[in-house]
Formats: sequence, structure tokens, C-alpha cells
Amino acid sequence: MKSALITGASRGIGRAAALRLAADGYAVAVNYKNSEEKARAVVDEIRSEGGVAMSVCADVSSPSDIERMAEKVLSEFSGVDVLVNNAGISRTGLVTDVTVDEWNIISDTMIRGTFLCTQKILPSMIAKKSGSIINISSIWGICGASCEVAYSTAKAAVIGFTKALSKEVGPSGIRVNCIAPGVIDTDMNRCHGEDVMRELAEETPLGRIGTPEDIANLISFLASAEASFITGQIITADGGLTV
Ligand code: NAP
Repeated sequence: MKSALITGASRGIGRAAALRLAADGYAVAVNYKNSEEKARAVVDEIRSEGGVAMSVCADVSSPSDIERMAEKVLSEFSGVDVLVNNAGISRTGLVTDVTVDEWNIISDTMIRGTFLCTQKILPSMIAKKSGSIINISSIWGICGASCEVAYSTAKAAVIGFTKALSKEVGPSGIRVNCIAPGVIDTDMNRCHGEDVMRELAEETPLGRIGTPEDIANLISFLASAEASFITGQIITADGGLTV
């Protein structure tokens, strides 16, 4: 049975990816930082459908947490075939108001977290000469978002990480791709009022906000053998918002 580790899978896009990859037949490791009950609920839902899943608590920005998580998942699942670096946080505010602590937590979660998880899981993929790493960036990592300079910077770094790593590990049979979602209906956007979300939907050529499942479908494809000639790509899924 193939296996997948999804960071930040207790809620939102990560949760949808966990459910989808489990339905695709993967044993799934559901990582979370704080939401233990929600992560357990994802695991229970997968098991109730006959799937295999475990939850694993780890702050992706902590080297010791990631070391422990990798050991646990690699030993229980005898390797990881698909790694989804999804855990993320956002903060809004003028760049002149961003504190060093805020800057660091954004960059540590998304840049350092992506690096640490990848570094600990890669050796098992290299040993098998196969694997798929899927990094979750954002349209704002491509276009830049006003009042989200730290977030946009971190997401742009994830794009650079994806391209460089795809060249480094392609010869080992490992594919590395990146998804740049548009506006997706998750807790991350709860800070925006209904009016803002309605306006964003109206601005979107396809006329709606994205769902976590829209992104999970793309994760499922990029993980699959159907994407076996695709690597180093940044794939936008935004309903046409940034066209
Ligand atoms: P969400 O609903 O807020 O969920 C965030 C997830 O990340 C939660 O599972 C959370 O775990 C986890 N997490 C946060 N910090 C963590 C850490 N240090 N270590 C481990 N896990 C951590 O967010 P989402 O909208 O699904 O976003 C998922 C990814 O998509 C993020 O990288 C985000 O930047 C990106 N994205 C989202 C949108 C959007 O519109 N929603 C658009 C573009 C890109 P806990 O539950 O334990 O806190």
C-alpha cells in the first residue's frame, strides 16, 4: 500500500487532501499542530471508509518535531510515497507594521517547514527511486498581495524551492510540483467578511470561490502515475482570478 504524509491536514485543504488520497488508496499520515480532535476526526473518517490513517502532532517549523514525525511515519508506513507540504498560516497588515516575530513565524512555518519535512522524507524516496512531493504555494506567491508581504514572500520561496529541488531529485525518480491556489473556502479566509468573499467570487471568471476539494483533486492528480512526466511545475488553481 502506498502512503502519503500531509502537513496541516486537520483542516481546510490538507484535510480534503487526506480524505482524497485515502480514497485513492493511500495510507495517510494526518499532521497537525494544535487541532488534535480535528485531526483525529479526519483519521476516524478515513478508517470508517475502510482506509488506513494515523494522526501525528508536529510543528513543521521545529527540527526536533519533524525528526520525530518522520521517524514515526516512515516506520509505521515503511516509507512515504507522497509528501504534501501544505501547513500554512497567514497574517494581514501593512509591511511597516509587521514585527520581526510575525515575519519569522510566517517564514518558519512555510519555508523552513517545507524544507525540514522534505529533508527528512527524501532519503526514503531516494532509496525507492520514486516519490512525489507537492508543495502548496499561493497565487500571491506569484502575483504578490498588498498587505500580505510576508505571506507572499514565503509563498514565492516555496516556488523557488520547488523548481530547484525538482532539478536536484529528478534523476532519482522523484517529482516535485507546486500548487498555487486562488481564494479557497477555508478557515484561513474567515477573517474576510461575506461581502469581500462575494466580491472575490464575482471577480473570478468561473464565478465562485474555490473549495478544498478543488485543490485536493489536483493533489490527487499530481501524486498519481498520470502525472509521471510532470515535475518542477507551478500549477495555478484559481478559477481564472489571476488570468
Ligand atoms: P487552514 O484551514 O487555516 O488550515 C491550516 C492547517 O495548517 C491546519 O491543519 C493547521 O494545523 C496547520 N498548521 C499551521 N501551522 C502549522 C505548523 N506550524 N505545523 C503544523 N501544522 C500547521 O488553511 P488552508 O486554507 O487549508 O491552507 C492550507 C495551505 O494552502 C496553506 O499553506 C495556505 O497558505 C495555502 N493556501 C490557502 C489559500 C486559501 O485561500 N485558503 C489560498 C492559497 C494558498 P492546526 O489545525 O493544528 O492549527
